[in-house]
Amino acid sequence: MDQNMDENMQDTTPENTDAPLDGSHWDVVVVGGGAGGLNAALVLARARRSVLVIDAGLPRNRFAAHMHGFLTRDGFPPGELLELGRAEVLGYGATIVEARATTVTGEAGDFEVVLDDGRAVHARRLVVATGLRDVLPELDGLAEQWGRGAVACPYCDGWEVRDRRIGVLASGPMSVHQAMLVRQWSADVTVVSSAVAEFDPEVRAGLAARGTKVIETDAAAVLEDADGVLTGLRLVDGSVVELDALFVGSRPTANDDLLEQLGAARTAGPMGEWVESDPTGRTSVPGVWVAGNSANPGALVIVAAAGGVMAATMINADLVADDTRLALAAVADAGTVTTAAAAA
Ligand SMILES: Cc1cc2nc3c(=O)[nH]c(=O)nc-3n(C[C@H](O)[C@H](O)[C@H](O)COP(=O)(O)OP(=O)(O)OC[C@H]3O[C@@H](n4cnc5c(N)ncnc54)[C@H](O)[C@@H]3O)c2cc1C
Repeated sequence: MDQNMDENMQDTTPENTDAPLDGSHWDVVVVGGGAGGLNAALVLARARRSVLVIDAGLPRNRFAAHMHGFLTRDGFPPGELLELGRAEVLGYGATIVEARATTVTGEAGDFEVVLDDGRAVHARRLVVATGLRDVLPELDGLAEQWGRGAVACPYCDGWEVRDRRIGVLASGPMSVHQAMLVRQWSADVTVVSSAVAEFDPEVRAGLAARGTKVIETDAAAVLEDADGVLTGLRLVDGSVVELDALFVGSRPTANDDLLEQLGAARTAGPMGEWVESDPTGRTSVPGVWVAGNSANPGALVIVAAAGGVMAATMINADLVADDTRLALAAVADAGTVTTAAAAA
């Protein structure tokens, strides 16, 4: 199931789309207005660059009521963080438009980005911070619980369910890590699914040694009570495993159409194939940086924001070098004209 297809979106973008954008030119266009994109925009706008943020308004963590692990903002509603972020970005004169960028062409100095409403904008540099979508295993009731009773990241949600009855829905070899990890938060952990059979004997022995129960039967449905609170899993044999929380491994899928259009190099990593970038987010395409989950599928919110800062400072330095080259060329041209005039 593709989590971008749901209706569960927060209205996270301001309605400042009246500006005559079509044909406009910007120092930097940032595609994606999550923590990664907004922090890039903030730093670039403060560096007095003209910045346009194009955002479709579907941040990955929109299913969660609270965000954890972000110093000073622990427990903050994710939508509120973005709302504050947008206000800060707008306060430095950047523009934010609610739209989806559909195509990108051109090269460093003049990229053209076309929006889903047909308008086209131009940019000297690009930040792609379009994040990823979590594709969930097909299971009745799972999408409804995603971000509430069913979660993926123990660092985000483990504390809230400490010492409770935790289930792990194994969906493949990658679930080993999750199954081992959540034991840190509770002694009552049950790993469910026939995928457990793929765990090697050493892993199974390790799970058993730490008291983790293993049930090699597939789940049929995620169960919830009348208030919508997760209560457990029904298995294909009809039995029920009572739970307070379920950890599920999603298949992280990059929102990377634009990077593909630009021909950005990709590389295989532990969480799938991803666009290649250096530690500052610089891709193989000159003038194009990535930030947040576009750069690193494992990035939590504060890491995504930091990636935006890193990309922004590198882009500004790159533009300064560009500005200097242009200024020198202008001086040389003027010198040629003056010399030619003197010789005439
Ligand atoms: C259920 C859940 C709970 C989580 N809880 C936590 C937590 O507690 N703490 C934590 O640190 N992390 C948490 N995360 C991880 C968190 O969601 C990511 O770290 C964070 O969203 C990454 O930020 P980002 O800016 O890279 O991407 P996103 O926040 O996903 O933002 C990307 C933006 O780009 C937009 N976009 C995509 N394509 C286009 C396009 N073509 N044109 C225009 N816009 C586009 C999207 O609509 C979106 O608005 C959680 C994730 C999930 C799924």
